[in-house]
This record gives sequence, C-alpha cells and structure tokens, in this order.
Amino acid sequence: MKKLIDLHLHLDGSVPYQTVRKLLAEEGKSLPEAELRKRLSVSPDCRNLDEYLDKFDFPLSLMQTAENLRLIVKELLQELRGQGLVYTEIRFAPQRHTKFLTQAEAVQAALAGRDDFYAWQKEQEGPDLHVNFLLCLMRLVGQDEANWETVKVARDFMDQGVAGLDLAGPENEEVANRKYAPFFQQAKEWGIPYTIHAGEAAGPESMREALALGTKRIGHGIRCQEDPALVKDLVEDGISLECCASSNLNTKVFNQIAEYPLRSMLGQKLRVTLNTDNMTVSATNLPHEYQLMEKQGLTKSEERQLYLNSVRAAFASQEEKERLLALLEE
Ligand SMILES: [Zn+2]
Repeated sequence: MKKLIDLHLHLDGSVPYQTVRKLLAEEGKSLPEAELRKRLSVSPDCRNLDEYLDKFDFPLSLMQTAENLRLIVKELLQELRGQGLVYTEIRFAPQRHTKFLTQAEAVQAALAGRDDFYAWQKEQEGPDLHVNFLLCLMRLVGQDEANWETVKVARDFMDQGVAGLDLAGPENEEVANRKYAPFFQQAKEWGIPYTIHAGEAAGPESMREALALGTKRIGHGIRCQEDPALVKDLVEDGISLECCASSNLNTKVFNQIAEYPLRSMLGQKLRVTLNTDNMTVSATNLPHEYQLMEKQGLTKSEERQLYLNSVRAAFASQEEKERLLALLEE
C-alpha cells in the first residue's frame, strides 16, 4: 500500500457514509441509499463552487454535538489509516459547530476523537497515522467576530493538536482575501502558521492577495497557470500548493482530468501536493486521486516528489517530518 499524506481535507465534507447512517439511526432516522448519496455528494451536473458548497449543510446538521464530532473524527481517521495515510491535516471551521457548543468545545471534541483514534491505533499493525487540525476562518460577510474567536482558539490549542489556520468559503470580490489581513497579521504575531484558499473559483489575483497576507501555502492555487509571472514568483518563494483534482472537476475549474495540470506544474518546479478536499462531497479518496493522476501518466519519481512536497509543506514538528521522510525510504 502507498504511504500517503493529505494536507487539504475538510472534516464536514468528508464524514464517512457509514458514520452518517449510524448517527441518523441514533436519532431513529434512516434515508434510502440513493437519497443519502444525493444529500452528501455532488452530482455530475454540479455547475460551480457555490453549488458544491451547498452539500455541506446536511453533514453540518449532524456535527453540532461533542459526541457526534468525536465519533466522526475517530471513524474518519480509521478510514484514512486504512487507505495508507501516514499524516494528515484535517481542517474545519469551529464557528460552524456552535448550535450548542462554543468554538473551543468543538475543537476539544475533535481532539477527543483524535485521542480515541490514537488509542485504537495502538492495537493496529503497520505505519501510524499522525493528525493535526487546521481551523478555518470563514470568508463570509458578517463573520468578523466569529473569525476573531477562531484565531484566539487556534492560539489556545496550538501544540495540543491544532497546527494552524485556513481561510475558506466562497471566492468573490465582496469577501476578497485582502479584506482578511488583520486576522492573519494577528496570527503571524502569535506564531500561528496558515494556509489560504485561493486560485480556485477566483483567478490569479486572489492568489496574489493571499501571498500579500504572508501565506506560505495556498489551498488549490491551480489557476496560477493563467499567469506565468505568478508561477515564477511561487517557484522562487517556495510556496506550496494544495491541489485537489476531483474537487476542481466538480466545481468546473476543469472539465476533464486530462486538462488537470498537476504534472506540468511539477515540471515547472512548483511545490505541488495532491489532496482530496472533500472525500464525501466529491465521492473520492486519496488512493483514487493518485489513480486518476497515474492514468494521466504520473511517474514514480513524480509521486515521490509529491510526497516530499507534502512533508515540506506540513505544519508538523521537525521530528514528525523526519518520521515521514524515514517512512518513504522503508
Ligand atoms: Zn478546500
């Protein structure tokens, strides 16, 4: 089995089907399989990022208690380990789990789920999966107060399993990345690393704005291909890009996998990584993403480069990075 690293995986978009069934059953509910798929995963006629983001409402409705969050994290991690993952950074926006919980309580619940998984993992054979969490600020109008709270919660839980921040949500002028500068200025002062979604629905300009906020990592960033000068800057500054092929096909950034420029970006010496984004919404997993790219001719040495790029980009300790590099040589 390949050893894999996923740096861009949203918790609410990756709730395992079996866990959803279990949680519905606890409420005395069930849904026919076809209906469940329709509620959780995008159909082939999904037109854009906004339609894609609609698929998060249903899973989020099940993620409002500490018990549910804890179980979802544990079962997702068990599934990821079974797919060969050895390190992952799971991201979520604690402010979207506050129907009954505070943001800090939502983070504690996720960490408890990780502890449950670690306890289970002790009894398993094979390489361990290590996990860190990234907390997402939401790129939505009217969320400033909640976003400030998230920055503070990240500071309070750094080194307890939270490893950084993200900025996620729709991409448009009203919520342009540059408008979030004060949050990331504060994060920088507190030594919290961050990544920012850019260059997905919005073009190269959104990536330039993300870079101006001081980010070393960009979520997606695939649309840098429209701007050769930007590509040059990204290479020179060693910026890591968290690419997610199936997700970009769902949101129609690309119409077919043959157009997906991952291999040519590796050829441009961009620090590209391959990730899932949303396993359940996109009905994918990381082994499947690699298979898609292999069908496009991904070579063993390119695959190795993707792994090395992920290790370099990870918001992990030096010790953890050394473990990951050693695993590659086994
Ligand atoms: Zn994402």
